[in-house]
Amino acid sequence: MQRLNYTDFAMTTPIVAEILSVGTEILLGEIVDTNAAWLAARLNERGIRIFRKQTVGDNLLRLCNALDLALNRADIVIVTGGLGPADDDMTREAISQVFDEKPTVDPGLLENLQQMFKTRNRPMPAANNKQAWLIESAEGLDNPFGTACGWAVRKNGKLLFALPGPPSEMKKMWADQVEPRLPSTGQCFYHTTIHTCLIGEPHLAEIISDYTVMKSPGVGTYARANGVDVRVGAVAASENEAKKIVMPAAAEIEKRLHEFVYGRDGETLVSAIMKMLNLRNENFSCMESLTGGAIAAEVTACPGISSCFAGSITAYSAEAKIAFGISPQTIERYGVVSQQVAEEMAKNVKKIFKTSWGIATTGAAGPDSHDGKQPGTAWVAVAGPEKLETMLVDWPGDRAMIINRVGRSALQMLWSALRREK
Ligand code: ATP
Ligand code: MG
Repeated sequence: MQRLNYTDFAMTTPIVAEILSVGTEILLGEIVDTNAAWLAARLNERGIRIFRKQTVGDNLLRLCNALDLALNRADIVIVTGGLGPADDDMTREAISQVFDEKPTVDPGLLENLQQMFKTRNRPMPAANNKQAWLIESAEGLDNPFGTACGWAVRKNGKLLFALPGPPSEMKKMWADQVEPRLPSTGQCFYHTTIHTCLIGEPHLAEIISDYTVMKSPGVGTYARANGVDVRVGAVAASENEAKKIVMPAAAEIEKRLHEFVYGRDGETLVSAIMKMLNLRNENFSCMESLTGGAIAAEVTACPGISSCFAGSITAYSAEAKIAFGISPQTIERYGVVSQQVAEEMAKNVKKIFKTSWGIATTGAAGPDSHDGKQPGTAWVAVAGPEKLETMLVDWPGDRAMIINRVGRSALQMLWSALRREK
């Protein structure tokens, strides 16, 4: 194989890493490369610079070239994918070629692999043997979630990690196996993210405009599906010093945006709702038409939510709505996409489940008009212990966007009502 030589570009300070995503399905856009995005964020947090990412299909020659290129211009190379037992999983073959070492079956790794199949009462196919390969400069990295063991290769002053493609396996191995093996950069990054909702990015940016131009801490705003995030971060010699720069600024930003802030870092809109409901010893339920269970799915993804979520009814057709107590006269008079129907849905579900709060959605998800209403027209209602509120959500988009937006609006409305009644 023709060796490329890019040593002229090799850099050692700061430490530079390159990510290589392997798989034809990623190259052709059949799956989105979430691994590279996630890894880049982790590297950046540690002060390891990242200048380039590569994506390459399941082709040995191009994989070798990509590895060669990466190893010549970066100190650390992280490869994900291609560690499976299939013929087109060629990451091990490529690494062996590039480092010019012959792979052999490692007895320890083979035993682990055989054990994994044995405990599941399944015969191990011969093809899996190559998952126990190692080269002399490589160390096997344990994968508790799958059969693809990873590799850490140290050679010629370079460090290479090969991790499996499935994101849950990759992330677990990153934390357990890769992080402890990474060199220290002598720099510590610390950041915190403030989550907001019910405020647009331009308006928010204006409120904290003196912060967004600062060099340290660095403050950035990011529009997300659930609202706008504000990320406050700093670099210092120790985590404590970085924290000292970040925390006061984050506290001041949170104070200014107070009425819109629902949480920090790992908190979600649902976990914020749960926290408030638990404090008040209250609970909620929902009746979904347009969102068809999307709210229930988002809500039940939150651990611990059974403490305050009773359940959800998907009442999609007019008949289903009537079965759950919506009056046929209301439907007849105002149509299914109406404020009145949304109100009755919220009130009824609250009664059916005997909850403190009931939320409801009804609308036209598109692409065609529904009940004479344009796609994107929806009503959201929140029935509380005292008040009943409704909101018209009226914005175009495709079906998925509309469903997502309406579900989010219902949860934001519940959050906002709980916040005001605090
Ligand atoms: P396996 O043992 O599952 O075959 P592997 O290491 O060979 O593991 P791949 O075959 O490349 O990994 O990918 C397996 C699956 O992992 C893909 O079908 C995809 O769902 C997911 N995956 C792979 N690479 C990525 C990536 N870069 N971003 C997100 N998902 C990925
Ligand atoms: Mg595979």
